[in-house]
Formats: sequence, C-alpha cells, structure tokens
Amino acid sequence: MKPLLNVDSALAKILADIKTLEAETVSLPDSYNRVLAEDIISPIDLPPFDNSAMDGYAIRCEDSAAASRANPVSLSVIMDIMAGSAPAGQLEAGTAARIMTGAPIPKGATAVIPVEDTDDNWSKGNDSPLPARVSLFRSLAMGENIRLAGENIGAGDTIMTAGTVVGAAEIGMIAGIGLPRVEVIRQPKVVILSSGDELVDIYDELTPGKIRDTNGYTLAGLIRGAGGLPIRLPIAKDSLESIRDLYRRALEINPDLLISTAGVSVGAADLVKVVMDELGEIDFWRINMRPGKPLAYGTICGIPFFGLPGNPVSTMVTFEVLARPALAKIAGRDFNQRTVKATIADDMRGDGRRTYARVKLQREPGRLVARSTGIQSSGALMSMVLADGLAIIPEEQTFMPAGSEVDVLPLRSIE
Ligand code: AMP
Ligand code: MG
Repeated sequence: MKPLLNVDSALAKILADIKTLEAETVSLPDSYNRVLAEDIISPIDLPPFDNSAMDGYAIRCEDSAAASRANPVSLSVIMDIMAGSAPAGQLEAGTAARIMTGAPIPKGATAVIPVEDTDDNWSKGNDSPLPARVSLFRSLAMGENIRLAGENIGAGDTIMTAGTVVGAAEIGMIAGIGLPRVEVIRQPKVVILSSGDELVDIYDELTPGKIRDTNGYTLAGLIRGAGGLPIRLPIAKDSLESIRDLYRRALEINPDLLISTAGVSVGAADLVKVVMDELGEIDFWRINMRPGKPLAYGTICGIPFFGLPGNPVSTMVTFEVLARPALAKIAGRDFNQRTVKATIADDMRGDGRRTYARVKLQREPGRLVARSTGIQSSGALMSMVLADGLAIIPEEQTFMPAGSEVDVLPLRSIE
C-alpha cells in the first residue's frame, strides 16, 4: 500500500502544475467579480477640475478676513455656477459667485463659504433668485471647501494592479476614468462529473436503494463561489460504456478543469479508475487527511483533473483544501488559504490524520470560539450546512482538550 501523502505536499504538487488562464476583453459591467489582467492607469485627473465641496459662495478668501456674525462682510454676487456648467468669468476683489456642490470653481476664487454661514437662505429651493449681494458671517482659510483637481487620483497614476478582483468600488472608479472595456482573466469552465448506479437527480423518483446526487449541486455552488463557471453533466451509470461516454462529453466542452466525485475509494467499483487511466495521467493518492483520504489528481488530455471522494462531506472538504486553491490559481485569484485562530469549546479527537472538523464559530470578547457541529460522519452533509469553518486538528494529534487553540479554515464570513 502507498504511504499517506501529506496535505501540504499534495497541495504544493498541484499548484506547481496549475497555470493561470489567458486574458480576455470584456465590457466594464461584465467585469464585475472578475480578475483584472492589466494594471489600470488613469488617463485623467480625478476630480478633473477644482470644484466646490459645499453649496455656498465662491469667494476670494482675503475678502472674508474681517467677517464675523456681528460684523458681516458684504460682497456683490456676479455669477451663478450650477453643477455641470463651466464658468467663464473671473472673480474680482469684492465679488462672489453662488456655487453648487461639485460645480467648477471660477478663476480667482480661493474658498467656498457654505450657504449657512451667509445671510442667504436657499430654503425656497435651487431655483431661488440670485441675490445682488451676500453677507459673509465668518472668515475662510485658503482653499477651504475646495476639492482640488487630481486630489483623488492624478493622470498617469496606477489605480489598480493586475490580479485585483473587480468589486463595486473598483467598477465605479474605472467608470470614473472613462474606460468602457477592461482586460480580465478568462473565467474557468469547470465540468462536474458524477457517476453511480445509486444516484438519481432531483426530479427523479427516489426508489428503494437510490439516493439523490448532492455532490453535483454542492460542487456547482463551490465552483461558482470560487469564480468558475460550473457545467454539470448528467449522472453516468456504473458501466464502462456510460463512464466513457460521460468523459467524452466532458472533453467536448473544452473545459479548463474537470472535477469528478466518487469512484476513487478502495471499495468503489474500479470502472472510474479504468476510464481515468485510459484517458489521462492520473495519480491515485492516499492523503493524510480526514475526511477525504482517497483522491485522484492529474490531467486528462492536458486538462487538470480532480477525482474527489464521493461522500458528500469528503467532496466538500477536499474541494476546500485542495481544489479551491487550484481553481483560484487557474482564475488568476489569490490562492493562499487563510486560517483564523479559535479556541475549542469541547474536547476534540483526531485519528492521527490531519482532521478537518466541522465547527460553528462564535465571537466572544477577545477570542473566537469553535464548537463542533455534532455528528462528523463524512456522509452527513448537514454538518456542512451547520458549519462556519473547518477546525484543523494536526497530524499525530489524537486528542485536543477543550480550551486548546486551533487553526480554522473559514467557510463563510464570521459575524
Ligand atoms: P464511491 O466512491 O462510488 O464508493 O462513493 C462513496 C460514497 O459517496 C457512496 O456512499 C456514494 O453513494 C456517495 N456518493 C457518490 N457520488 C455521490 C453524489 N454525486 N452525490 C451524493 N453522494 C454520492
Ligand atoms: Mg460509486
């Protein structure tokens, strides 16, 4: 029997093989949640012009030097500048321009006094008539309430680097600098293969001896969450012909990654292994982890391939630990796994393999507490429904008393 392979060595071997996909150009709205394949360099200053941070009056700040509520300074109002307009005139000493938030600062102005610090009152709304004069109730510093051109970003600035995931702020910023299209990493197509005479789909009748295919659905969710495009094929029967046909159909899709479940355990019908061997270069690993010891990994016609174990929890845990980082690398995303420290609330047991225990996480003052979700059978998918994370009990460690600190691989954001 082959020796058990360490989880970290398995992951290192996998990541060494995996290549990131090429770039494609997409329209800006389609870039949401995609990975930038180029640095984004701003062709313009943002804001593009000096503008007002307030509704008020643009003035020359030296004109306000003597102003106070008791002794207001009166200026003549010579301009009215709405957002979107481009003021032509020059502000001379003793004059002011009514100005709206975001509107360009006229030449000569060095500060904006908010309307509430003047004798004007816009309670009648924006269309209130332009007064002939305005009284200032306070003095202003140079530049007060002026947003300077380029203060957010300057022309030529690199505002995002390749590898950035485009979120809402990023897409807005790219729109702000006027790029209608961006280069992103192509989204990986991932084919999901399920086989087993016992499996039926959700629309089928659950006759005696049958169970529903859950792995096809959980994997589709996991793949989508990791930035891939899942493609689920119909379930194959436990016959060479049916399994060969399934793989032929999978390859016709020209996928970037193949993920099958079941057929890699010791007791499994050897048919899947036969077909994997016919088609590709596949290693059958025994990984020092629980759940998920048996795992097939390699390439089929040059396409990376994972044969995950069939038990629903094993499928999900091996995906999290080994396939997710691989898919992240294919998609050009950060593939480093981040664990958090937590204190276990109950005693935990391992069997000498690295154990991924399903836990609920709860914040308490100064610490994160991990509690077992209860039943830990690799067939009990409810343990994943309840879990916020996978607590890692290291190799060789068969007992960890309550109060021990463990690393936890989070499965969702922790409240
Ligand atoms: P096998 O590797 O074929 O022996 O399968 C191991 C266990 O996983 C068996 O209990 C199967 O019924 C179960 N299993 C295999 N494939 C799936 C699937 N797609 N959905 C749910 N359970 C599965
Ligand atoms: Mg089977």
